[in-house]
Amino acid sequence: MYERMRRELSYIQGLVEGNQSFQNSTEFKVIQRLAEVVDELIETTQKLDTRQAELEEYVESIEEDLNDLELFAYDDEEDDEEVLELTCPECGEDVLVEAEDLEDESVELLCPKCHTVLIVEDASDQEEKELVNNGEGI
Ligand SMILES: [Zn+2]
Repeated sequence: MYERMRRELSYIQGLVEGNQSFQNSTEFKVIQRLAEVVDELIETTQKLDTRQAELEEYVESIEEDLNDLELFAYDDEEDDEEVLELTCPECGEDVLVEAEDLEDESVELLCPKCHTVLIVEDASDQEEKELVNNGEGI
């Protein structure tokens, strides 16, 4: 497409320059100037077009990577054990506990935010998660 535009432009320039009686007229200068501007436009558009194609390719590769990541994340989710969410009585921070960790007996946890020790009783057979705070903040 750009080659064709350049050929057209050259053809027009050739016509104008071939007309000797035309060479000193204002129209000649105007057409010469316009031809220069059109030439620049073709150049700029072609560069943009190339850049655009590169970006599209790049976006496609990002999209593919993202799809892979999504598949990976969903796979992981399926493999995960049940996770219970507790709320720290001291600071209100949500603390995640894997249900697997609660199967045997009570578990001591540290609140990641305020470092209060949280004792979580065996929650495997109760509806509400019981949370006991022994008050020993660190
Ligand atoms: Zn806390």
